[in-house]
Amino acid sequence: MSLQATIERLIDIFLPPDLQCINCQRYCQLNDWQLCADCLTQLEPVDFELPAEQYQMRRLLTCYYYDDFAQKMVYAHKEGKGRYYAKLFAAMLAEKLTEVALSVDAISWVPTTRVKITRRGADHAGDIATELAKLLNVPRLSLLTAKQQQSDQKKLSKQARIANRQDAFSCNRQIEAGLRVLLIDDVITTGATISSAARAILLANRHCQLFGAAVFYTANKRK
Ligand SMILES: [Zn+2]
Repeated sequence: MSLQATIERLIDIFLPPDLQCINCQRYCQLNDWQLCADCLTQLEPVDFELPAEQYQMRRLLTCYYYDDFAQKMVYAHKEGKGRYYAKLFAAMLAEKLTEVALSVDAISWVPTTRVKITRRGADHAGDIATELAKLLNVPRLSLLTAKQQQSDQKKLSKQARIANRQDAFSCNRQIEAGLRVLLIDDVITTGATISSAARAILLANRHCQLFGAAVFYTANKRK
């Protein structure tokens, strides 16, 4: 083991992990999210709401733009540091809900397929939902199942892809009318996936009040 590796190892053993930025792993002054000032300033907040009805929901919130930095965080969430990032992303979503004064009765999420859960060892949006439900002190509801897609999305025509996505989820649970449910995901790109998930929930629960939120938003910045 090199000297540097030895020193880093000793730091890991003797310094409590909550002094370490969960993103860049530096030991320094951290905010409540355990991010250092440098990492925090790299995130650019999204300051508008997406047109929610277009996505079958009452409101659709996103927290930060999905730039290279955010992409690294999402990648880290999926590749082994899941627990830390699930907590961080949940804290970001909770702050957004406070900022826009939205309160909900339950949290649900856009699930991944069973094959992918087995391969990755986790359902990542589900893990964020677990942490967010704890933060907000509301139940976490497993409402959706992701259907196994018949064919590889990349090989399909655009129309076939859209059709495939529109029918990507099934809702297996009835909930009481009027319940305010927040459907969450990590990243929104076109919104087709969360919209399809929302449609499945509303098909089974026409009278629930459905809201959506994602940590990151990929579309071009509006200036
Ligand atoms: Zn950092």
